[in-house]
Amino acid sequence: MWTQIAQHISQSTQQEFRTKNRRSVNGGCINQCYSLIGDNITYFVKINQASQVEMFAAEALGLKQISDTKTIRVPQPICWGMSEKISYIVLEWIQFSLGTNQSWEEMGRKLGTMHHYQGADQFGWEQNNTIGSIPQINIWTDSWADFFAEYRIGYQLKLARRRGGNFPECTQVVEMVRKLLSNRKPQPSLVHGDLWSGNVAVTQEGEPIILDPATYYGDHEVDLAMTELFGGFSGRFYRGYNEVFPLEKGYQKRKTIYNLYHILNHFNLFGGGYGSQVNHMIQRILTSG
Ligand code: ADP
Repeated sequence: MWTQIAQHISQSTQQEFRTKNRRSVNGGCINQCYSLIGDNITYFVKINQASQVEMFAAEALGLKQISDTKTIRVPQPICWGMSEKISYIVLEWIQFSLGTNQSWEEMGRKLGTMHHYQGADQFGWEQNNTIGSIPQINIWTDSWADFFAEYRIGYQLKLARRRGGNFPECTQVVEMVRKLLSNRKPQPSLVHGDLWSGNVAVTQEGEPIILDPATYYGDHEVDLAMTELFGGFSGRFYRGYNEVFPLEKGYQKRKTIYNLYHILNHFNLFGGGYGSQVNHMIQRILTSG
């Protein structure tokens, strides 16, 4: 399998790659991660079961689309595929640093600029992808309220109830989300889709970079909301973001709706204590209508 991955790298880059060393990299929530070290270049490799090959195909496409906006750096996808019983993706290796106030502010500005990029006039994406390892439905839709209510909250809530979560009935929640978002008519923005602090970094040269996206065209506020969910973003990030994309009225209320999606997803991925947080958020949403 590793020989085949090295061959695939050589084919894709048109440069002979021979693995001198391989090290395991910590921090992956979903995949096993490695560095593949060659004579004068290193690559980052994620592997999973063969059935996850579509997940890697979508990650490669998402990275390419973000890269094509020429607004914020992402690791360049090199190749992806299947070998024996596993699937893999190979990315450019990035050496990270702690970053400075300046790099955080620049990250905010660059993300805001990416959110202004206009590449679609509907909400959705050209294929379904995954959030964590859970499917993310991206059927092109004209109305943001319909899209978010059905394909984000409705889809995850249905899964969560099937997993045994004791949550209110789907229709009631979906209809309330649809109603609360009915006046929200954003320009579809290319969003990262899973923007927690583990998915942003700064290179050794001080350049901000975003990793591991769950890309789609949506309300740019979904990314902003997620940065606040688990913390870890510097105040300078928001200052930079606000310079290019000032906050709009009603964001604080929408934030709970947008983050319910991620907490439902965490319940579906990890179960346990996320259930009570889901119920707390749903109650806030149902009583705010
Ligand atoms: P997963 O898909 O399993 O969540 P991630 O893409 O988040 O995995 O990567 C796991 C960790 O590996 C990250 O937190 C980061 O520290 C490191 N990492 C991610 N991408 C790269 C890269 N291109 N080069 C070097 N290290 C990386």
